[in-house]
Amino acid sequence: MNEADIQGIKTVLQTPKNIVIIPHRNPDGDAIGSTLALWHYLKKGQHNATIIAPNDYPEFLKWMPGENEIVKFDYEKDRAKEILNDANVIFTLDFNDLSRIGDMATTVSDCKATFIMIDHHQQPSDYAKFMYSDTSMSSTCEMVYNFISYLGDEALINAEMATCMYTGIMTDTGSFRFKATTSTTHRIIANLMDKGAENASIHNEIYDTNRLSRLQLLGCALKNLVVLEAYSTVYITISKDELVRYDFKKGDTEGFVNYGLSLKGIKFAAIFIENLQEPYVKMSLRSKGDFSVNEFARAHFNGGGHTNAAGGRSDDSMEKTIEKFIKILPAYKEELS
Ligand code: 5GP
Ligand code: MN
Repeated sequence: MNEADIQGIKTVLQTPKNIVIIPHRNPDGDAIGSTLALWHYLKKGQHNATIIAPNDYPEFLKWMPGENEIVKFDYEKDRAKEILNDANVIFTLDFNDLSRIGDMATTVSDCKATFIMIDHHQQPSDYAKFMYSDTSMSSTCEMVYNFISYLGDEALINAEMATCMYTGIMTDTGSFRFKATTSTTHRIIANLMDKGAENASIHNEIYDTNRLSRLQLLGCALKNLVVLEAYSTVYITISKDELVRYDFKKGDTEGFVNYGLSLKGIKFAAIFIENLQEPYVKMSLRSKGDFSVNEFARAHFNGGGHTNAAGGRSDDSMEKTIEKFIKILPAYKEELS
């Protein structure tokens, strides 16, 4: 963040404000962790702050400090709109374009508030007065840590904030193993532990609270895995029927795609999941090395994300979507082999 922006934000936050903090739709650990950490911080500054999430999120995130005060736009539209209309400042965290908050975008884009973006996704849109965008960052939580430091308030970080930031960094880095995990990330993690983040219990809350049916859904997904050796690619499908059979709950398929990428020699892994309510297929794409799934998702599946982790969707049937996917691959043969 440049010095002028830091000073500008300091001025804005000098007096108590009505502040709304927004994560992306279908928020993950980094989205919830970063919004909560910032929320705890702003409340210390006597601001009237509210997190409004576009929709619900998985159970494995529902233990985080302050989580029970998050307003969900899908469930409380009238109240959320009132809070948004009264906002002087709106922070948008962990997303790069208002289309990533779904239906809520219409209300948000009409707000007269000062917008502040904190995000690490590629190709950020230009809607915020203050933009802290850095695609080299491991996570938005790492950026919130920096943001608080830039404002000179590192000393205000308490155990609750540390727990939220630790969680988001851990989930967005695949437990500190993705390439964006730097020595600085580890130093920040060390500081967060000193401030009271308990690594073992956070890991346990996120990863070791499986239901048997979720493990069985994973078994089903792995049975459906197809290897396309010529393209160092694998894909997994999960149909609506399979979701119902294994009692699917929000967040159950999180991380499944990574199993594909764990196969020796594989550079590109995709998972295609039928949506339960509406007739579309949601996909998650992961890669190793230089092959950009962000570009791939943008070019073919109306999505985006990062170089090695992206998502998208298809309004075709599962069968047609897979057909399309397989047809596209030869164009990337050189990059993939
Ligand atoms: P996931 O596969 O875990 O849902 O998402 C991986 C990454 O891609 C995340 O950083 C997420 O924000 C981004 N992403 C997922 N789905 C979409 C999408 O439909 N559009 C865009 N632009 N980004 C997405
Ligand atoms: Mn993130």
